Amino acid sequence: MVDGQVNTLQDVVYGFMPAQILHVGARLNIADELAGGPRTLGELAAATGTHGPSLRRLLQGLACLNVLGETADGRYELTAAGQQLRADVPNSIRAAVLLFCSEAMWRSWSALEYSVRTGDIAWDHVHGSSFFDYMDEHAAESTTFNSAMADRTRAAVPKIIGNYDFSRFTRLVDVGGGNGQLLATILTSTPELRGVLFDQPAGVSDARDMMWATGVADRCEITAGDFFAGVPTGGDAYLLKSVIHNWDDDKATAILRNCRKAMGDKGTLLLVERIMPPRVESPAFGRIVWSDVNMLVNTFGRERTEAEYGALFAAAGFELTGRKPTSDDPVDYQLLEGVPA
Ligand code: SAH
Repeated sequence: MVDGQVNTLQDVVYGFMPAQILHVGARLNIADELAGGPRTLGELAAATGTHGPSLRRLLQGLACLNVLGETADGRYELTAAGQQLRADVPNSIRAAVLLFCSEAMWRSWSALEYSVRTGDIAWDHVHGSSFFDYMDEHAAESTTFNSAMADRTRAAVPKIIGNYDFSRFTRLVDVGGGNGQLLATILTSTPELRGVLFDQPAGVSDARDMMWATGVADRCEITAGDFFAGVPTGGDAYLLKSVIHNWDDDKATAILRNCRKAMGDKGTLLLVERIMPPRVESPAFGRIVWSDVNMLVNTFGRERTEAEYGALFAAAGFELTGRKPTSDDPVDYQLLEGVPA
């Protein structure tokens, strides 16, 4: 183990308890219930349809997680940190909590050992279909997944667009662009640019609203399809954020080859991913490593080093020409740029 990575293994053992306390708090919309100000236990129990004495025990747990505080007269109030559990705040983590602590996700993670022993995908083993097929068939969970991705992407977008000049392109295709959070923001800040949002049907289901709400609908096409079958042609830039890490090398290469085919001999490939260091020498890289194990369990993708991305680019007919961090934090997203080789 890397020195200092886990200070108290005991805390890790019990880590699932606070995670589930947070999860149930999110499912009961406790933070949104308290958005208007402090409320009593009775009011919260009535609003959430729960058993008061048991709810009190959950609220104590949320207080220990610094989500809630108690007022002098015994009412519950949201702390500054707890605001993040609200659904409608810009830095909301509610959808991420609902996704990662969901029963479906915990069932796949409970089969981590299966993946490690067999080299097969725990999610498929437990649920009987692949992660993204499952999402295509479960509308509510798909909406939660899209929101969790969009929330994370929204937080990263200013750093991504602040560090890259998108105005040199005319038609940007966002492959696996989900509900369009990233593309809409790029189009907003790049007035001459046209966009194509491409994802599977469940991915783009909320995208039209996003494009209208951000005022870029007239410059953005939305296309549903399967990126293993092909991606929209005619872009001079193809952007893939948090897509390639979901797939093993063969599938990742197939997606990139389809981008290569669609762009012809001129064009730019842009990947936004976290980059694994050649050696995990610092506990600070835990976030990438957890994500790597998450990929192992759920999709059989992986987090890759720059050299591994270089090899993928080469296999798909690209040359890796640049790597730009989006912040000083090495665990943050990086922009990898490639051109046809
Ligand atoms: N780029 C977005 C979403 C990343 S999640 C963001 O960073 O926020 C990966 C995306 O790949 C999901 O939106 C999922 O719907 C999409 N996807 C998975 N399989 C696909 C397929 N076969 N064809 C097209 N899109 C697919």
